[in-house]
Amino acid sequence: MLWFVVTVAILAVVTVFCLVRTHRSDKEIAPYVSHCLFWLLIPIVSNIVIALSDDIEICKFCFTVYFISTTVLLYYFAEFAIKFCNFDTDKPLASNLMMGIVALDSVNLALNYVFGHVFTVSSVEDAGEVDVIFRSLWYHKVHLGISALLLLIPIVVLAVKSIKSSKLYRDRYVVLLIACLLTSLWESFHVFTNGLVDQSIIGTCACGLFVYIYAMEYVPSILMDEMKKTVLSTINDGILFFDENRDCIYANPAATFQLGMGLNETESGFEKLLSLTGEDREESAYYSSKVLTCTKMEDGEEYIYDIEFHKLHDMQGKLIGSFAKIQDTTERTKRENVNRFLATHDKLTGIYNTDRLYDSIREVLNANPDKEFYVIASDIKEFKLVNDRYGREFADKLLIRIADLLKDKAVSDTTRYGRLGSDKFGCLIEKANYNEETFVSAMREVPNVGMNLVIPIIMHVGAYEVEDKNMPVSAMFDRAFIAIAGVKQEADLRVAYYEENSRDAMLWDQKITEQLDNAILTGQIVPYLQAQVNRDGKVVGAEVLVRWIHPDEGFMPPGRFLSVLEKNGRIAKIDQYIWECACRILRRWAFEGREDLYLSVNISPKDFYMMDVPEVIIGLADKYELDRKRLRLEITETIMMDDIDEKLKTIDKLREAGFIVEMDDFGSGYSSLNMLKDMPVDVLKLDMIFLKDTAHDERTKKIMSLIIDLAKSLDVPVIAEGVETVEQVDFLAKMGCDYFQGYYFARPVSLDEYEKKNLSSVS
Ligand code: C2E
Ligand code: CA
Ligand code: CA
Repeated sequence: MLWFVVTVAILAVVTVFCLVRTHRSDKEIAPYVSHCLFWLLIPIVSNIVIALSDDIEICKFCFTVYFISTTVLLYYFAEFAIKFCNFDTDKPLASNLMMGIVALDSVNLALNYVFGHVFTVSSVEDAGEVDVIFRSLWYHKVHLGISALLLLIPIVVLAVKSIKSSKLYRDRYVVLLIACLLTSLWESFHVFTNGLVDQSIIGTCACGLFVYIYAMEYVPSILMDEMKKTVLSTINDGILFFDENRDCIYANPAATFQLGMGLNETESGFEKLLSLTGEDREESAYYSSKVLTCTKMEDGEEYIYDIEFHKLHDMQGKLIGSFAKIQDTTERTKRENVNRFLATHDKLTGIYNTDRLYDSIREVLNANPDKEFYVIASDIKEFKLVNDRYGREFADKLLIRIADLLKDKAVSDTTRYGRLGSDKFGCLIEKANYNEETFVSAMREVPNVGMNLVIPIIMHVGAYEVEDKNMPVSAMFDRAFIAIAGVKQEADLRVAYYEENSRDAMLWDQKITEQLDNAILTGQIVPYLQAQVNRDGKVVGAEVLVRWIHPDEGFMPPGRFLSVLEKNGRIAKIDQYIWECACRILRRWAFEGREDLYLSVNISPKDFYMMDVPEVIIGLADKYELDRKRLRLEITETIMMDDIDEKLKTIDKLREAGFIVEMDDFGSGYSSLNMLKDMPVDVLKLDMIFLKDTAHDERTKKIMSLIIDLAKSLDVPVIAEGVETVEQVDFLAKMGCDYFQGYYFARPVSLDEYEKKNLSSVS
C-alpha cells in the first residue's frame, strides 16, 4: 500500500504544479484544464486518506467525497474534451442536462448518510490488523453507470476528432483517447475486483497530466518544421544559411532565383552572393545586419536588392554559421523614385517645381561663392487671355515648349531652371554664360514659331543680378518679378533688370490699389474736363479725364495711377465712376438748358473683360434720362487685339443704342488703316504723337493727310488731340480736320472752372 500512497502523492504534487501553471496562463483552454486538475486533486487526496486510515467514519466520509468529486471531474473532463476538440459548445441544454445529472448524483451520494443506499464501510480485525471493508449497494451501481455515461462523452469526442483531424495533430487526440480508455479499463477492473482503494486513480492522474501537456504545452515539432519550411519557400525574400565554413547549407527558392542558381546547386550560394554584392569573401564575413544595396541586370530588367548578413554564435560565443537575407526592393525603389520625381518636378512640363528649383539654386550658389549669377523669371503677358482664346490644351503646349527651350539652352552645369507656377518660369544663369540677345531671341521665338497665331504671345522677362548670395532664393525671384512688373505694359519683349526703385514702384502700385475704393467714396477721384472745339473755335464738348486729389500725394494725373489699375482690372471701377460723374453732369446741364454740349468718356480695353460695357452704359444713360448722343465713348483700337467679332458686336450695340463712338489714339500702337475700315466708329481721334513730329517731318504730315482723307471718304469726322500751337491748328484745318482738343484751346480743368469758362457766357 505504501508504494501506492507514495506514487499518488508524487502525482498530486505534480498535479498541483501543473494547476498553478495553468492558472497563470491566459490561453483560452486554460480554465477548462484547471477545472479538471482541481477536481482531480480531490479524489487523489481522498484515496490517500482511505489508504492510510483505518477509522471507519473517516473512510466513509472520504468515499463520499471521492465519489462526488469523480462525477464532477468527469463533467469537467467532458467539457474540456468538447472545447479541446473544437466541438460546437454552444448547446446550453446539453450542458444543463449534464450538470443536472451530476447534481442529482452528488445529492444521492451525500444522502448515503441518511439512507445507506450507496455503500457501507465496516472494519474487521485480522491478526491484530484492522481492515476496512467497503461494500457496494445498489445506488453505487447507478453512480458507476452515470460515471461511465459521462466518460463516454469525451471518449466519443476524442475518437471523432482523432479520425477527422490532420495527421499532424492526430497524436494529441489519440494519446488522450488511449489514456482515457486505459484508465476506464483500469477503473472497471477495480470495480469488479472490489478493492478498497481505487488504484486506477494513478491512471486518472496520468490522464490529467496528458490533458495538461497536450492542451497547454505541446506544439508538434513536425508542425513547426513544416511551417518553417513553408514560410521559407513562400516568402519573397531570399534566405541563405551558411555553416561555419560559409558553405551554403540551405537556400530558399526566392534566393535561388535571385542568385540565378538551380534549386540543387545551392553550394555555390556564397560565391553567387559575393558576386552580386561585389564584396570580397573576407570582408563580407564582417557584415552583421548591415544592409547592402545592389543592382542586377537580367534580360534587360533591372533588379534592386537589399542584402543583410547575420552571424550566429553558440552559447560560448563561437561562430556556428551565418545567414543572409536578400530583399527584392525593385518595386519599392522604383515607386520611391517616381514619388521623389513627382515631389520635385512639375507635372506638366517635367522640369523642377518651385521648391526643388529654390533648393538647387541654393546649392549652386553655395558651391560657387566666386561666380556671379543672374536669377531670371519669365511671365507670359496676359496668360489668362491666351488660355481663354486658344484653349487650355494650347496653353499647356505652350508651357511645355518653354520648358523644352530651357532644357535645350541650359547647357552649363551651374544653370538651374524650373516652373514657378502657372505661366511663370525661373532660372539661374551664370553671368559668364549669359547673353541677353540670344536669350531674348529664343524667348521671342519659342511661343510663336509654328503656332499660327493671330496675336503673338509675348513673354516678359525679369532679371536680378545676385548681389547678396545669402538672400533667400524666393526673394531673388521676387526681385526678378518686380522688374517684370515695371514693363508689363510694354508690348515688346526685353529683359527688365531689377533696380532698387522698381521695388518702390511695386509698393506704389500696391498702395494705389488698396486706396482706390476709399478714394472714390471720399471724393478724391474727380472728373476734369478738357474742351473740344470746332473749326470756328467754338466749344462743342469736352473729354472727361480722371484726376486723383490725393490727401498725401496731392494732385495726380492718370499717368500716375491708371497703369497699375489697368493691369489688375480695377480700372473698371474707376471708369464706371467717371462715366456716372459724366452722366450726372450731362443731366444737370440738360436741366440748365445746355443740351448742346457733349461729354466724351474713356473706355479702357480692360473694361470689356470686367463687365458688360453696353449694359452698364445704357443703364447709366437711362438712369439719368440722357440724350444718348450727348455721351461720347472713346475706345482705342487695342480692344481689337482679340475676340474681334465679339468686340465689333459690342461697338455696334453701343452705336445702335445711340451713343457716338470715337476711335481714340488713332495712329499710336497697332494702328492700321485697315482697322479704320473695319471698325464701325463715328469719330476718329488722331493721336497727339503725330503733332509732336509734324513740325519737322513732311512724311508724317503726308500720313496724317492720308488718314484724314480716308476718314472723310468713310464719312467719319476727325478730331485732333494734343494741339498746342496755332500752326498746328492751321495745317490741321487745311487738311480737313474738323475738331480740335489741346492746350492751345484749353487745358483739362475742374468742372467748376470749365463751367465758369464755357457755360456762363451762354444763356
Ligand atoms: P487720352 O485719352 O489720350 O487723353 C488725352 C491726354 O492728353 C490727357 O492726358 C490730356 O491731359 C492730354 N492733353 C490734352 N491736350 C494736350 C496737349 O495739348 N499737349 C499735351 N502734351 N497733352 C495734352 P491725361 O489727362 O494725363 O490722361 C492720360 C490718359 O489717361 C488719357 O489719354 C487716357 O488714355 C487715360 N485716361 C484719362 N482719364 C481716364 C478715364 O477716366 N478712364 C480711362 N480708361 N482712361 C483715362
Ligand atoms: Ca481719350
Ligand atoms: Ca487720346
